[in-house]
Amino acid sequence: MGFIPISIEKYIKKHMQNNPAENKSDLRKRLNSALLDYQNGVRCSCGNDIWVIGSAVAGNKCFNCITGERMPTDDYEIDSAMKKKANRKEQRHINDIKPSEINGFFDDEGYEMNAHLIQKPTLCLTCINNDDPHEELFCNLTRLDQQGEPEFVCFAYKKKQY
Ligand SMILES: [Zn+2]
Repeated sequence: MGFIPISIEKYIKKHMQNNPAENKSDLRKRLNSALLDYQNGVRCSCGNDIWVIGSAVAGNKCFNCITGERMPTDDYEIDSAMKKKANRKEQRHINDIKPSEINGFFDDEGYEMNAHLIQKPTLCLTCINNDDPHEELFCNLTRLDQQGEPEFVCFAYKKKQY
């Protein structure tokens, strides 16, 4: 359940295949503007976060108000609109941290990421490395690298023996 994350470029490609008459640069402009609104905290009139992909077509509204459905099933959302921005205030920016103390993860905008907020793919749950604290850093880097990708691939994966 939930949105399928997709990058703006991939979504535009998909959308153009299904709607060849669409004006590509106009679509991109509307997506970027909806994404910017989302990141600025613009909400649907009902109070929910806006659905960027739907808002590019229907104006700034949430998934529920645009589709009338409660939960997305095979619907897409722009990946960068799916990362939680709510805890921003508690996050440190890389410019505010002494260089000697920088050792965590940072997002594209330079904010420190909480390692336990990194989504753990279900694949990891059956992997022996999941129980090894020494592997955690490497595992998190692999996960971080693929946040928003529909399929998780890990070359360090070793299936647990039960
Ligand atoms: Zn709404």
